[in-house]
Amino acid sequence: MSALPDTAGLRAALLAGKFPDARGRFGPFGGRYVPETLIPALERLERGVREHLASGEFQAELTGQLTTWVGRPTALTHATRLSERWGARVYLKREDLAHTGAHKINNAIGQALLARRLGARRVVAETGAGQHGVASAAACARLGLPCTVYMGAIDMERQAPNVGRMRLLGAEVVPVTSGDRTLRAAIDEALRDWVSDPLGTYYLLGSVVGPHPYPYLVRELQAVIGREARAQLIAATGRLPDALIACVGGGSNSIGAFHAFVPDTAVEIIGVEAGGRGAGLGDNAATIAYGRPGVLHGTYSMLLQDADGQVQETHSVSAGLDYPGVGPEHALLAAVGRVRYETASDAQALAGVRALSECEGILPAIESAHALAAAERWALAHPGGTVLVCLSGRGDKDMPTLQRTLLAAEAP
Ligand SMILES: *Cc1c(COP(=O)(O)O)cnc(C)c1O
Repeated sequence: MSALPDTAGLRAALLAGKFPDARGRFGPFGGRYVPETLIPALERLERGVREHLASGEFQAELTGQLTTWVGRPTALTHATRLSERWGARVYLKREDLAHTGAHKINNAIGQALLARRLGARRVVAETGAGQHGVASAAACARLGLPCTVYMGAIDMERQAPNVGRMRLLGAEVVPVTSGDRTLRAAIDEALRDWVSDPLGTYYLLGSVVGPHPYPYLVRELQAVIGREARAQLIAATGRLPDALIACVGGGSNSIGAFHAFVPDTAVEIIGVEAGGRGAGLGDNAATIAYGRPGVLHGTYSMLLQDADGQVQETHSVSAGLDYPGVGPEHALLAAVGRVRYETASDAQALAGVRALSECEGILPAIESAHALAAAERWALAHPGGTVLVCLSGRGDKDMPTLQRTLLAAEAP
């Protein structure tokens, strides 16, 4: 990415909060690479976002739901025993305590409120591991909006408990049998549904990916994580952290955690991608580490692809990080060097699950444990430093995987 024309200029604009620009771009990344039929729907959504998102009325309604239903502000926890073990002060932003067990609800309830304001009669969403589907189903039930969730047929088998949760929450779950029968195909189906009725239907996208305005909209709805954490950490310690670390799938919990800290250049920011089994194509989901620029799902960003530009299958022990793309803002944050991206392997993430569970009585999502693995590395290299980790979700959903891996390995 050293080929960027004006890295210093882009970095200055980024620190000044100038992205996305009027065309929905984060420097060279982002934009709107979609069929002509989708443009009017995206433009209508963009106008809706501009009209409502910053309005006092919408913000009051959103804050009400976040406070009385989601459970915000979520706690900031000083991980005292982990701090002792690693030799640095470790603080956790507890998105695992948010309703439905992860940060995804911040986005889902915000967009569902927006859908209602825009006059939508129904909501469509896509889901891979099922977490975004569950959050969308819950938010739609709360607001009385019918919800249809597209899910790859393969994912429905792998994530059966989440299919049941969505159905109990009143959503219709539609199996997708086309394409790769996983998240990629599910996104295509959800987009197709939206195009067929762009006025009556709202498409509730789950991460900071997709065409403009989604990367912006989802960032604004997740930025509450970093705003709260920044104030909570200053209240607890009197200062900013030395480092801030979050895991990166599509990139929404991390962008949400990072956003308030981007101008604080003394804070080292680290995003952690899924290193899986190793560096080979198909062995990981580390898009920034091993990818090249390209277009996926309507946005220009980093992408895991082969030499012919074919998008690659990914692998990660955590279903929520298993996506071949990444949000365009991350591509820019990496290109200008404001955020450093690292990887954590499957094995390192599982060790992170174990460490947090034993030391702090918190069973983290395997996704979040990737951030813990990087936090351990950082702590060992910076004795006495202060590191803030975004704990994106809780690990109860991962019990089947943990049975097959950690617990099986330790069985007597
Ligand atoms: C979905 C998910 C992620 C990955 O998605 P991002 O958009 O990168 O945040 C991370 N952690 C948990 C717990 C998730 O459910």
